[in-house]
Amino acid sequence: MRIYNTLTRKIEKFIPLNPPKVGMYTCGQTVYDFTHIGHGRKYTNDDILRRVLANAGYDVIHVQNVTDVGHLVSDADEGEDKLEKGAKKYGKTVWEVADFYTNHFYNSLDKLNILRPTIICKATDHISEQIALIKKLIEKGFAYDTPEAIYFDISKFKGYGKLFGQNLNEKQTARIDVQKGEHKKHPLDFVLWFKRVGRFADHAMHWKSSWGDGFPGWHIECSAMSMKYLGETIDIHTGGEDHISVHHPNEIAQSEAATGKPFVRFWVHHTFLMVDGRKMSKSLNNFYRVEDVEGKGFEPLSLRYLYLTTHYRKQLNFTWESLNAAQEGLNNLRKLCCKVSDTLQGKRSVLSAEKLTKIQVYSQRFKTAIENDLQMPEALAIAWEVAKSNIPSPDKRDLIADFDQVLGFDLFNHRKGYTLKGVTFSELPNDVKKLVDARETARKDQDWKLSDQLRDKILASGYKIEDSSNGPKLQKI
Ligand SMILES: [Zn+2]
Repeated sequence: MRIYNTLTRKIEKFIPLNPPKVGMYTCGQTVYDFTHIGHGRKYTNDDILRRVLANAGYDVIHVQNVTDVGHLVSDADEGEDKLEKGAKKYGKTVWEVADFYTNHFYNSLDKLNILRPTIICKATDHISEQIALIKKLIEKGFAYDTPEAIYFDISKFKGYGKLFGQNLNEKQTARIDVQKGEHKKHPLDFVLWFKRVGRFADHAMHWKSSWGDGFPGWHIECSAMSMKYLGETIDIHTGGEDHISVHHPNEIAQSEAATGKPFVRFWVHHTFLMVDGRKMSKSLNNFYRVEDVEGKGFEPLSLRYLYLTTHYRKQLNFTWESLNAAQEGLNNLRKLCCKVSDTLQGKRSVLSAEKLTKIQVYSQRFKTAIENDLQMPEALAIAWEVAKSNIPSPDKRDLIADFDQVLGFDLFNHRKGYTLKGVTFSELPNDVKKLVDARETARKDQDWKLSDQLRDKILASGYKIEDSSNGPKLQKI
């Protein structure tokens, strides 16, 4: 598996620190406003990365934070707190705003068939971990106390610019605003803890600390939570390209200053979605949500198809015409897959050596494409070739169903006789697969007692199983 690493600016071979486990951390949403189709692209590409890793046999622990405090309007600590801004705009409390938009975020992602992270962690549930990390940074001399905030001292940390490839003097920075009462030593010093004074005297969310009442800065939550769940050095950290210049260098500075170890081995960044050839922006009124797509009669999965037609590091331009073409592409691919299902006899013919080789070649080409820095447009083209090919139906079906574990289009919504929800086939533990197979055999033998016992065992393993006319449906609880 090879993946582009922003840190080295190269496509590198990926080998996890502790195989088969892969620790993957994704910067989640600041939950103060609606999730839009630009977020949809970013998180779909994270989902693809996770599925490709699972397909390669890795056991992925995917951690994603929810920023419900501390993120100011500018990533560099300027302006108001985004949650407070959202609360004012919609006439709700900050807690209501956070709950509402967290739900909207995950509902939007569910519609795009994005697997829920293994661990979802809220910043407000991890205040003590953030305070402990700030204490450590103060003790080690990397942070200092001022009347308005605890700041990270950038001059003490060597290699601040390694992610964005500049040294400190070259980086454009805002000036220190002494009139606003800033006591920063360097313009790039950033807030670890905001004190509830001055412009934040009425801040709704606040906690006690040894530096007085206040709330954490935005960057510290990702360092504290990623290290809590994935250890001091993590395999992969993902995020939008906008984080390369401020948020991620700050995460590196805090984490590496605290531990003295490399924080992240692979940094993966996603390129933004354009709409009608322009950057999405509120003032251009070109922000669309998944609901807008549904409102025009498109399926949310047509968006997923559109996202996969362009490599994650290239710009993708959304237009209603391109979405229409994606919906047609998805419909046509599905139609070919339905044909395969309809002609499925259940019995397999003996494959000729020529057909067997053909299947193996398709399978290998798909694997090569996805494991080569996620070349999804190529992978999609191979899925189309298979769908149109003359290989026998049962084998064609198995092959496309395998591909769909990565593509995530739910083309058959079916794998090896059962439907999966909330988990991919490769992520499903082997003992659960065996229990499901044993239960199917028991049902065929009309041994209902054994079938019920097996259902209870499957439930105890964390999966709910229900029977339907298309076979059993297995859902991760
Ligand atoms: Zn982050």
